[in-house]
Amino acid sequence: MKRVTIVGMSLAGLRAAETLRRSGFDATITAIGAESWVPYDRPPLSKEFLTKTRSFADISLRREGYDNFDAELRLGVRAVGLNVVEHSVALDDGSAVEYDELIIATGTEPRRLPPEICDPNLHGVHYLRTYDDAVALRRDIVQAGRVCVIGAGFIGAEIAASCRALGVAVTMLEAQAQPMIRGLGETLGSVCAQLHRDHGVDVRLGVQISSVHGEETVDGVRLVDGTDIACDVVVIGIGVEPSTGWLQGSGLEIDNGIVCDEFCIAAPNVFAAGDVARWPNSLFDGELMRLEHWTNAVEQGAHVAETIVSGEPTSFAPVPFVWSDQYDCKIQSVGRFSADDEFTIVRGSLESRKFVALFGRNGRLTGALGFSQPRHVMIARRQIAERVSYADAVNAANA
Ligand code: NAP
Repeated sequence: MKRVTIVGMSLAGLRAAETLRRSGFDATITAIGAESWVPYDRPPLSKEFLTKTRSFADISLRREGYDNFDAELRLGVRAVGLNVVEHSVALDDGSAVEYDELIIATGTEPRRLPPEICDPNLHGVHYLRTYDDAVALRRDIVQAGRVCVIGAGFIGAEIAASCRALGVAVTMLEAQAQPMIRGLGETLGSVCAQLHRDHGVDVRLGVQISSVHGEETVDGVRLVDGTDIACDVVVIGIGVEPSTGWLQGSGLEIDNGIVCDEFCIAAPNVFAAGDVARWPNSLFDGELMRLEHWTNAVEQGAHVAETIVSGEPTSFAPVPFVWSDQYDCKIQSVGRFSADDEFTIVRGSLESRKFVALFGRNGRLTGALGFSQPRHVMIARRQIAERVSYADAVNAANA
């Protein structure tokens, strides 16, 4: 019987295992997860897990449990090395797992502020990635007078909104000129900044952190211009790094993730999926992509499992999709666009914070961004997959 080993037991790893089992594939599955928890859903951790009473059972990813799952789950152990010649993964408990097919879905880990700026042992300083992180953060936030979030990306913006829902004062510090600027661009990022200001967040843009200070517990953040911001909790969301350190010396190409081919194959019998995988997306002219979002983990995890089952690799060429809930706004983005692309607001208005923006480059529809317009964003997702021209998409939306 074939042996499939999955390293990384979060969303992408779980979906890969479930797809193998659902297909009836005749193989043993060994799934290795660094956390001790069974796989759980991360999106609620920055949102309702902080604002409402939620238990682990509410966010566990498998409703039906693991009794009949027929996979060996090895949780609370880390992979520390890969030997692609011997088809073997070394674990931090000293054991090794062999494989015929390997799926790597080790995800990402938070980028840290350097210790000279932020003492990692200071109480009240948080990063958010895991369930344990969220439990510790919730405990501190509900008692906080003022929270300071560093970084106005997904984590910072969602946590700021959660704090305001709890009635906690928030200062949001961002190095860039606007929140979520890499995803939204300057104009639409400014809509996000105003959304937070209208909900009482003290948004400070284009700032640099000099230090996060306090004796044993944090009591403030100092900016490079000398400004001091008093707070009793700091949440740092300044991006993530792919979890690839354990692959050093394995021979896999590592460059901002595991570099794969268009089939998500990194080496013979080695696949990568989820936040850690970087592959050329043929739908976007082979642009190397690494996507850090929920939908991609689901789709890519399933895709590599289907390839293992069929033995016939097919290109993985999705239209990226991401959403973020902040206050009463559902922000959704599809496709791949940059600040340089042209864009048109085709529905609603920026002022009402209900709109759809379409993006185009070289005559082609590249993306769409919606504030509280889910149906129209999904139409654009389909149009991008069908390679509709920018002009046709704009005309159709205005019709
Ligand atoms: P992120 O979305 O990449 O945003 C980080 C932001 O912090 C960027 O704007 C970054 O600017 C800024 N920054 C970097 N260094 C800084 C500094 N020293 N001071 C102030 N600002 C700084 O990353 P994240 O918010 O940490 O999120 C982490 C991961 O969780 C991501 O993979 C994200 O996709 C995921 N997540 C997703 C969702 C969702 O899909 N709804 C929700 C929560 C988390 P630069 O770009 O210039 O570095």
